[in-house]
Amino acid sequence: MKRAVRLDLDRCIKAGECYYNHPRHFAMDEDGSPRILVRFVESDADLKEVEEAIEVCPAQAIALDD
Ligand code: SF4
Repeated sequence: MKRAVRLDLDRCIKAGECYYNHPRHFAMDEDGSPRILVRFVESDADLKEVEEAIEVCPAQAIALDD
């Protein structure tokens, strides 16, 4: 099942954990904000990457839709 990756930029504090640790899924914009590179994830490998990003985000700004 495909799951959508969500990013709440109002919560994000631009700590950069997501794009530094998971550069295949997140990139840094010019102002330090993250950007989603893979909008929908399905494989176990992709889900694991995004779940790790969710765990380490200090602002709880990343989520996966059911
Ligand atoms: S890890 Fe969280 S707080 Fe840091 S840039 Fe990514 S979304 Fe923002």
